[in-house]
Amino acid sequence: MQVALVTVGDELLAGDTVNTNASWLAARLAERGVSVRRVLVVPDERAEIAERVRAYNEAYDAVLVTGGLGGTPDDVTMAAVADAFDRDLAVDDLALADVEETLEAIAGEYPDLEVDAEAEATVPAGSRPLLNRAGLAPGCVVENVYVLPGIPDEMKTMFETVEDEFEGDAVSRFLYTEKPEANLVDALTDAGAKFDVTIGCYPDRDAGHNRLKVTGDDPDQVDTAAAWLAAEVDANDEPADDG
Ligand code: ATP
Ligand code: MG
Repeated sequence: MQVALVTVGDELLAGDTVNTNASWLAARLAERGVSVRRVLVVPDERAEIAERVRAYNEAYDAVLVTGGLGGTPDDVTMAAVADAFDRDLAVDDLALADVEETLEAIAGEYPDLEVDAEAEATVPAGSRPLLNRAGLAPGCVVENVYVLPGIPDEMKTMFETVEDEFEGDAVSRFLYTEKPEANLVDALTDAGAKFDVTIGCYPDRDAGHNRLKVTGDDPDQVDTAAAWLAAEVDANDEPADDG
């Protein structure tokens, strides 16, 4: 399964907010064997979001979009996703009931809250709403596009309600070697040619090692390639303990 992530927000592009949603989702999807093929940051602009969602929906098995669901004027993601599928926006009854229930529950704590519940519960017509268990505005699923909140806690809680829908065959093994990168080139080239795997080499100066990552769709190929490479470059499956 190949997916793309679209993270929405001017604040991400400006460097005001670190894009932790992208790295968290990428790691969780990789754990499930899903290949994340694109991570994109787009501004809070309806046409730009719509264009990318449409293109990635065609190119990948699923698209996950985060950010811009709330009720402020810069939150345009729902409208953009509706545009991407040529759909109207509509109030979802289930989402509306849930938003109203949440507002009732927090009324004591926030007596002056001015929320337009219908606006919060508006999603692309005919989509499957995803209720927000950690906040207010719902997400939704339209075809294979999953729209999640921007606030990291809300995004994580909502992702966990749909994560079973993401499953792939990609498996990885990590290896650690203290040999310098230049001395690994031949072995990495040969391993890439011999086995049906992808190999990445990631130097970590602080730890004093290179971390190698062997990834593929066939666990036997990945294990064989990792064993071959470990012998070639004197690598271990755990970092050396220098303590
Ligand atoms: P709300 O309903 O509260 O408006 P939202 O779903 O509309 O939330 P945003 O308005 O886009 O989400 O962002 C809410 C908060 O989450 C902001 O502080 C924003 O910086 C942060 N945030 C948004 N996207 C990300 C991201 N990709 N990684 C980390 N934090 C993010
Ligand atoms: Mg917002």
